[in-house]
Amino acid sequence: MTGMIIETEKGKWEIICGLEIHCQIISNSKIFSGASTHYGSDANENVAFIDAGMPGMLPSLNERCVYQAVKTGLGLNAQINKYSEFSRKNYFYADLPQGYQITQFRYPIVGEGKVTVDLSDGTAKEIGIERMHIEQDAGKSIHDMAPDKSFIDLNRAGVGLMEIVTKPDFRAPEEAGAFLRKLRSILRYLGTCDGNMDEGSMRCDVNVSVRPLGSNEFRTRCEMKNVNSVKFVMTAIENEARRHIEVYENGGEIAQETRQFDPSTGKTKAMRKKEFAHDYRYFPEPDLLPLVLDDDYIARIKADMPELPDAKKSRFVNELGLTAYDAEVICENKETADFFEKAAKGHDAKKVANWLMGDFFGMLNEKKVELKDSPVSAENLGKLVELVTSNVINGKTAKDVFAIMADTGADPEKIVEEKGLKQVTDTGAIEAIVDEVIASSPDNVAAYKGGKTNLIGWFVGQVMKKSQGKANPGVVNNLLKQKLG
Ligand code: MN
Repeated sequence: MTGMIIETEKGKWEIICGLEIHCQIISNSKIFSGASTHYGSDANENVAFIDAGMPGMLPSLNERCVYQAVKTGLGLNAQINKYSEFSRKNYFYADLPQGYQITQFRYPIVGEGKVTVDLSDGTAKEIGIERMHIEQDAGKSIHDMAPDKSFIDLNRAGVGLMEIVTKPDFRAPEEAGAFLRKLRSILRYLGTCDGNMDEGSMRCDVNVSVRPLGSNEFRTRCEMKNVNSVKFVMTAIENEARRHIEVYENGGEIAQETRQFDPSTGKTKAMRKKEFAHDYRYFPEPDLLPLVLDDDYIARIKADMPELPDAKKSRFVNELGLTAYDAEVICENKETADFFEKAAKGHDAKKVANWLMGDFFGMLNEKKVELKDSPVSAENLGKLVELVTSNVINGKTAKDVFAIMADTGADPEKIVEEKGLKQVTDTGAIEAIVDEVIASSPDNVAAYKGGKTNLIGWFVGQVMKKSQGKANPGVVNNLLKQKLG
């Protein structure tokens, strides 16, 4: 894939985009205090003195957050830096009572890495990770509770964040969308961030610039802060790129600035001139020692890594015979992949995948239930597929059995037994029905013999109907062809 090329009357343009993603670390307590990170508590319920910026309070680093960051770095195929440092990033805002954010600047905990994304045309692209550092989150300002007041909720202040910065490797909105979905999938597999963009636990800043196609220059970029869905990120990239092109083609210049994306219009508007690093007066955090990790610590986390989506996907393709597309869909979500593996155990994995992605997902959708609440268990889905592959029931009956399973949660073997649905493979029994059908439709027999051979379907249908769907369709077909000559 060559990326998205935007063509105007005056020329062709290429999009350059990089992302910065803030991901809330899954941990029980905050990164520098013992206050809870629970989402949905009453306002200011989870606030330690240091989270409120009380004078004289000292930060104490939560080891769990370090563990999670290293695990994430390994999941991004990235360099883990055994030496890192905390810095103060100074700025004033009402929801930042300390007057500075404790973050990492010159020496982040994670260095360069790479993530492979799969694109809709079947190709894959490698996206470079520039770095990842850990820092504290700010509180929340609430402006819509009263017309003349703003409120501050510090529950989020001090929650641990991982800030992942990509290289400017995206050339199309689709690539950024695929990356965010892949990143979210990796974080969820790792259990280091829940990836819920709508709750703000994963927030994306989007940097966009454009250049004439074929040029290697990097022009001025604009940043859109906190775009809160994958779809909005993709819209923001395209619309911002088009804005740049229009400015350039009319002889204007783009100013480096922070812009706000408005989901209702899809447009961006200027918020403020972009700050530069020197505006923040970064300096080493005097209240925290440098963070030094040893090889044993990193090795222990490595030993604790789950199988990640890429590895799982290639195992499903190479060992279980799934198509790349099926494996991709099934592996995006760990729960789905686990469910599939449980269902496929001991059965025809490819057929299980077909059922899962067809009737099963369709059923969940229709009933509006999540996988974890599925009335059809993984074991029972596997059993159903087995009943078909071992010729106990035919495909048509399997659909009826599945419908009963979806309503009752019952075991398919029991359903088949109780309702007497086993298919008839006894040739003698089927032959009797075939003879009956042939005898009762002389016109169609004559037509078939006269060359209308596609009537075979009609004959099969009649026999299946008379057998209440239980005849083995293969046997029916053979017998009919023999007898009709
Ligand atoms: Mn940050």
